[in-house]
Amino acid sequence: MIFELLKERRRHRLRARPFPKKWLDLIQGHVVFFRKLSANDRAELLGHIQVFLAEKRFEGCGGFAITDDVRVTIAAQACLLLLHRRTDYFPNLLTILVYPLSYMVEEKRQIGEHLWEEGTVSRLGETGRRMGSLVLSWGAVKHSAADPSDGKNVVLHEFAHQLDFENEATDGVPGLATREQQLAWAEVMRSEYASLRAADESGVPTLLNTYGATNPAEFFAVSVEAFFEQPRALLARHPKLYAELRTYFQQDPVEFSTEALQQ
Ligand SMILES: [Zn+2]
Repeated sequence: MIFELLKERRRHRLRARPFPKKWLDLIQGHVVFFRKLSANDRAELLGHIQVFLAEKRFEGCGGFAITDDVRVTIAAQACLLLLHRRTDYFPNLLTILVYPLSYMVEEKRQIGEHLWEEGTVSRLGETGRRMGSLVLSWGAVKHSAADPSDGKNVVLHEFAHQLDFENEATDGVPGLATREQQLAWAEVMRSEYASLRAADESGVPTLLNTYGATNPAEFFAVSVEAFFEQPRALLARHPKLYAELRTYFQQDPVEFSTEALQQ
């Protein structure tokens, strides 16, 4: 209890610190959604960024050097997921590893009942419940910051997985406040996930990235990308999914989206 209280006080002090002008210039220059947020949300986001940067470690991989630009561009996008909610700042995450571009990993994947394929695949990011770390490609991070409405954002995707881990399971369900919310969430996600799987199998074009058909955890991460990147289209085509995400995030990204209105 005393530890929690001290942590809260330290975070309160960090949020209240004046935000470094150099960091603000970097965010305003590179993180496009930031300019669209309300003044209140911008101030809240900057406070979260101060806590995030004080608590998380960054490590460059593959010869990559971590700069302030790298730190604030990642932090600004990750902290968008924390606005308006009580948050413990991604408690399972200690270290963010950053590669210059995509990176290669050895992967074994099942392609049939008794058939496995081994090989080297390239990745833009990953995280896991027991990893304590999250991996990102700086190339993909920069692209995500510069284009906030193409439906893809590697930072939002990987940090959405971190939110999923907060309730001790990797099941596409973040920490929801009430039993009522959990039931509504389960029903909507089950049916939306089933329709994405069906569309993927029959080759019907979808708004949601069909990578979300992999499992419920990926479905949640992909939905979060769409919620913040293409909220108008998501609201129009998946109103129930949009409503669940709006209730959880306490945000309505339609209000600050740069997404072009589609006919
Ligand atoms: Zn994922």
